[in-house]
Amino acid sequence: MTSYVELSTKAKMPILGLGTWQSSIGKVRDAVKFAIDVGYRHFDCAYVYQNENEIGDAIQEKIEEGAVTREDLFVVSKLWCTRHEKSLVKGACQNTLAALKLDYLDLYLMHWPMGFKALEELVDAGLAKSIGISNFNREQIERLLNKPDLKYKPVNNQIESHPYLPQEELVNYCQSQGISVTAYCPLGAPNWPQPKSEAIFLLDDPKIKEIAAKYSKTSAQVLIRFHIQRNVSVIPKSVTPHRIEENFKVFDFELTKEEMETILRFKKRYRICSLTTGRNHKDYPFTED
Ligand code: NDP
Repeated sequence: MTSYVELSTKAKMPILGLGTWQSSIGKVRDAVKFAIDVGYRHFDCAYVYQNENEIGDAIQEKIEEGAVTREDLFVVSKLWCTRHEKSLVKGACQNTLAALKLDYLDLYLMHWPMGFKALEELVDAGLAKSIGISNFNREQIERLLNKPDLKYKPVNNQIESHPYLPQEELVNYCQSQGISVTAYCPLGAPNWPQPKSEAIFLLDDPKIKEIAAKYSKTSAQVLIRFHIQRNVSVIPKSVTPHRIEENFKVFDFELTKEEMETILRFKKRYRICSLTTGRNHKDYPFTED
C-alpha cells in the first residue's frame, strides 16, 4: 500500500499528513500529539497559521518522550507573502524553525506564486532539506523551470484538490516534471471562514456517500483515499481525535478504476480557496476561473 511519495531528491514524504490551518492555539498541541500516536508523520504548517509555536511544543514533547525521532517526521512550512524580499527570507525561515523548535524543515514552500528563487539559499544553509511551491499554475511552473539560473527544482506543488476541483491536468503536468503534488482542502473545507457562493458539502455528496457505504468507510476516508491512489499527498486538517484517527484509516481499502474515473469526472467544479484579495496582482494564479 502506498504510504510515501518519493520526491525528486529521493526523500520520502509520507503521503498522508495533518493539516493545521485554523487549528487553534489550545487545541493544536493535543491534536499533533494525538496524530503522532495514531501514526501521522507528516505535518503541514505555515507561518501565517499563527500556531507553529504550539505545534513545535507538541513535536518536542513527543521526541522527548521517545515516541518519534526528528528523522521520523516530515515537517512542512511556508513562506508568507510579506517575507518575499530576499533579505527577509532567511529570517522568516529561522523564525518558523524557532517556533517549531527544529533545526531544519523537510520542505519549505513559497505559499503563493510570487517568487521562489529566494528559497534556494535555505537549502544551501541547511535550513530546508527541500523547497517547493504552492498555488502555482502550469504557466508559472513552466516559467520557473525555464529559468536558466534555477539551482534547485521545486519538489512539490501544494494545491487545492478534491472531487469538485481535481486539477487532473495540473497534477499530471507536475508529476511529469518530477514535482510531487499535495492536495489541500481535501474534505472540501467544511468550515471555510468566508461564505462560499454555493453549498459545497463534499462530505454529503451522494456519490461519495454511496462509494463510502460500499466499503463501510466514511466520506472523508473516500475523499482522502482518492488522492492516495493518484500518488498525491493529502493533508486533511482536524483537531478532533476521532476524526484524526478516522482520516488515517485509509490504507486498508482500494477504490476501483471506475470509481476513480467517476470521481475525476464529477460535473460540479468549485474552487474554495481563491485568494480574492490577490485578484489584481500580476501573478494571481487562478485567472482561468
Ligand atoms: P479540509 O478539507 O482538510 O477540512 C478541514 C475541516 O474538516 C475541519 O473543519 C475539520 O474539523 C473537518 N474534518 C476533518 N476531518 C473530518 C471528518 N473525518 N469528518 C468530518 N469533518 C472533518 O480543509 P483545510 O482548508 O483545513 O485544508 C487542509 C490543510 O491544507 C490546511 O489545514 C492547511 O494545512 C492546508 N492548506 C493550504 C493552503 C495553501 O494555500 N497552501 C490553503 C488551504 C489549506 P475539526 O478540525 O473540527 O475536526
